Amino acid sequence: MDDQGALVLFSGGQDSATCLAWALARFARVETIGFDYGQRHRVELACRAGLRAELTARFPAWAERLGEDHMLRLDALAEVSDTALTREAEIELRADGLPNTFVPGRNLLFVTFAATVAYRRGLRHLVAGMCETDYSGYPDCRDDTLKALQVAINLGMDRRFVLHTPLMWRDKAATWALAETLGGSALVDLIVEQSHTCYLGDRSRRHPWGYGCGACPACDLRRRGWDAYRRA
Ligand code: ZN
Repeated sequence: MDDQGALVLFSGGQDSATCLAWALARFARVETIGFDYGQRHRVELACRAGLRAELTARFPAWAERLGEDHMLRLDALAEVSDTALTREAEIELRADGLPNTFVPGRNLLFVTFAATVAYRRGLRHLVAGMCETDYSGYPDCRDDTLKALQVAINLGMDRRFVLHTPLMWRDKAATWALAETLGGSALVDLIVEQSHTCYLGDRSRRHPWGYGCGACPACDLRRRGWDAYRRA
């Protein structure tokens, strides 16, 4: 098992793009994994290649570390879930306070599949962008959930994976600041331009913080984080 090898859960959004840069700054060999589960914001997946290409072009030291990309189709997830992320529906809060974008168990499945790929690739470190600070109430983004999952995976696969969640205690403003620390304004500009966050998959409108409809909860979070980051 490669102690210097990492697999980054890379969706093409702001958080996972920042996580990829974080991993490239730390590990000698970094691979990426993405999941296609019929999400409405599939345009996010299309952004992944652009982000990887730009990171490679603008950061030569990271380019030599960036390895393979893995794309997994999880059709079963769309089959078993009925949420605003996988069908045409208004995004709103449910009676229990969770947004109807919640796909139950999604992150548990993603991390488990990532570990399966990391096992095969001999990569010790898993890097994921879950965040408890701005977590929209998703219970599978909680630090305790992911720590428990790390234990379960290590027991179940008989490995010593280390699950890193560098954004766990950072809000969106701090995530922008982390990008600046890692790669200066060049990285911030790259993430603004190339990453995608909008739940509706809108890339026709360009704002100072990037592309999106500007009204959905994901756009709102990204915009507020950007404004706070620029004020700081
Ligand atoms: Zn939006």
